[in-house]
Amino acid sequence: MNRVKTRTVTALVLVAAMTAGLLFYLFSYFTHGAEWASFQANRHVYTNGLVLTGTIVDRNNTVLTSAENGSRQYHSDREIRMATLHVVGDRSGNIGTSVLNRYASQLIGYDPINGVYSLSDRGSTIQLSIDAELSRVALEALHGAHGTIVVYNYKTGEILCMVSSPTFDPDEEPDLSQDDTGYEGVYLNRAISSTFTPGSIFKLITTAAAIETIDDLFTQTFQCPGSLEIEGKTITCHSTHGSLSLEDALAVSCNCAFAEIALQLGGDTLAQYAEAYGLTDSLEIGLISTASGNFEAHEEDSWELAWSGIGQSTDLVNPLSFLRLMGAYANGGVAVTPRFVLSVTGASGIQTTLTPQTSVQLVEESTANTMCELMAHNVSTNYGVDNYPGLELCAKSGTAEVGGDAQPHAWFTGFLRNEDAPLAFLVLVENGGSGSQVAGPIANQVLQAAVTAIRE
Ligand SMILES: [Zn+2]
Repeated sequence: MNRVKTRTVTALVLVAAMTAGLLFYLFSYFTHGAEWASFQANRHVYTNGLVLTGTIVDRNNTVLTSAENGSRQYHSDREIRMATLHVVGDRSGNIGTSVLNRYASQLIGYDPINGVYSLSDRGSTIQLSIDAELSRVALEALHGAHGTIVVYNYKTGEILCMVSSPTFDPDEEPDLSQDDTGYEGVYLNRAISSTFTPGSIFKLITTAAAIETIDDLFTQTFQCPGSLEIEGKTITCHSTHGSLSLEDALAVSCNCAFAEIALQLGGDTLAQYAEAYGLTDSLEIGLISTASGNFEAHEEDSWELAWSGIGQSTDLVNPLSFLRLMGAYANGGVAVTPRFVLSVTGASGIQTTLTPQTSVQLVEESTANTMCELMAHNVSTNYGVDNYPGLELCAKSGTAEVGGDAQPHAWFTGFLRNEDAPLAFLVLVENGGSGSQVAGPIANQVLQAAVTAIRE
């Protein structure tokens, strides 16, 4: 009797263990199956570490890359291949933030019912919000300079254009063993993975902080004798502006006025705004994270604090994080997170959203609306409405000193208030010189094309 009981218990324990094991396997299969299938030792879908199935199309279903007969093919136009390279990815997998790298399992089209699709199948199709033709226009506008141009719809978060230069043709990968400085940082998508000294575009944060913190801001008069002495050291302005209101100080980008505002605010307050506006943290863009910016309070050093309120000192911003803030200014303070990997369609035809639209109230609504008016004033009094025909432009330029004999970085950023073209943009030309004179015309060229693209 005892022996029967023992056997029964043993059998029950074995059944229980088997059931638990099966459940564990099934659970793991459904939760980790995609990882196992896309594990790089799985030769079925990879060659030399690169995913060899799947298609990537732009917002108009233009095929940017596809897998045919076991090799990866790119768009037939060289300029489009180069302009979309950092988003799409290269054959060797060197561009870490590319869709080919980060969305490999989605491209393979793994699903737990059917398993991996065979190589003869086309895998899945990922649709981007990027416009290939607009990207081509943007890359051409940079004329070979290093930098980045990003344009996004601040209502939907869709990035229409994100080019990074230097770039290369994926059909003619450069030999980087040769010490060619022209290819510096070529594998980085500068919009996502880099940070830069912002220069005067940072005055847009100093201004917003001042609007909320300094009661008599709009009745103050600032003095610009061309330079300012702070603790025995000099803050220089690019001109002698005389007496200025806040509106005009921003429009002419007066360093003396903004040094004074930074000192009134204090470093801690400025640092709080830089953080609250998402400029010091990494931003999650689907499966991709941006580089974190930097802002230091400099509470013990008024001269450094003054420069940091002007966007110099140790300030660093990431282009996409800054663009998101421009979107929030345009959109009543609501920041819609930029995104560019929209959906995946499996071989079975089922479409799944990959990066849903998300938003957050990043800036107080009244502050955002005041920033719109100030940035429109910049255009009407300084940049020239006629230089941006048809565009209801709100903007700020920046000419960021980068030290030594190097030319400053040229920035131009802002947004359109056109109802049918809710676009925010950022143009950075590294070592390009004057923001308004170099980056401004490039912004116009790209925005004209972007407005046409979004109206189609
Ligand atoms: Zn000045």
